[in-house]
Amino acid sequence: MAVDLKDKVVLITGASSGFGEDAARLFAKEGCKVVVAARRIERLQNLASSIQDEGGEAIAVPMDVTNHDEINLMIKTAIDLYGHIDILFNNAGFGRLSWLENLDPDRDIETQIQVNLTGLIQTTRAVLPYMLERRSGSIINMSSVAGWIAPSTYTIYSATKFGVRGFTDALRREVQPFGIHVSGIYPGPAATEFGQHTGNHPMRKSALRKYFRAMTSEYVAQRVVDLAKRPRRVLIIPWYYRIAVLGDWLIPGFVDWVVMTYLTSKKNRRP
Ligand code: NDP
Repeated sequence: MAVDLKDKVVLITGASSGFGEDAARLFAKEGCKVVVAARRIERLQNLASSIQDEGGEAIAVPMDVTNHDEINLMIKTAIDLYGHIDILFNNAGFGRLSWLENLDPDRDIETQIQVNLTGLIQTTRAVLPYMLERRSGSIINMSSVAGWIAPSTYTIYSATKFGVRGFTDALRREVQPFGIHVSGIYPGPAATEFGQHTGNHPMRKSALRKYFRAMTSEYVAQRVVDLAKRPRRVLIIPWYYRIAVLGDWLIPGFVDWVVMTYLTSKKNRRP
């Protein structure tokens, strides 16, 4: 049976744009109290105001997931206001995509790991005691199809998203006996601001890519809300990436060939 989301308290990281922003609007429409967090406070305040204008409940908390104090303050704000957190959507993240030797050691490697993986782990660790105390809760972790299939130029991004997958699976087995659901969502490409932060990456708009339209951010956000209603271990979207994931496991040589032949332009291959 689907969980009724009315009056649930939802904490969303990376809510100033893309999936996080759309998920906040959709959770609010379900009657949830939404705590939206990210670094860009004006964006969060505009989001919270527009949710309130539509009769929903939302508060904006500025924070950086790489900062432990700011993670703790975000959670304290939610707990002080509502007393508990029902749903945690760990969504903050970005991708810097290039040949490994071209990635900046700090901004592109260290920070990417800190935001996408360590930040998600630390946020979860800090929220978990409040869920364990009530023997209830739902944690939804944003990974990516790149958390199953690692294309060239995605070395660090895939490392973080594979990491999120491992963390999600282990945590699910750790806390499910205590009434807490843990789900991993693994989307393929979607139209958000993600592409503005990837850098000048060498994947081409290949002949193959035109057959795979990017999902809308709203669609992905709706699937996140669906996971809160009906928790699942794994949700890979769109469906055809499930076949690709299976292919990478059963016939990895073929998938290597497809990725190297169709996803990287000759022009942009390593000199
Ligand atoms: P956006 O760039 O639109 O959203 C990223 C969000 O993460 C923003 O709200 C940003 O807010 C936040 N963020 C980034 N760094 C930090 C930080 N240090 N602390 C707190 N918040 C941070 O992209 P998407 O909506 O597409 O991305 C959301 C998630 O989805 C990411 O984890 C991404 O890896 C994943 N994903 C995206 C796919 C896509 O094709 N778009 C496909 C599969 C997965 P701010 O800058 O204000 O801090």
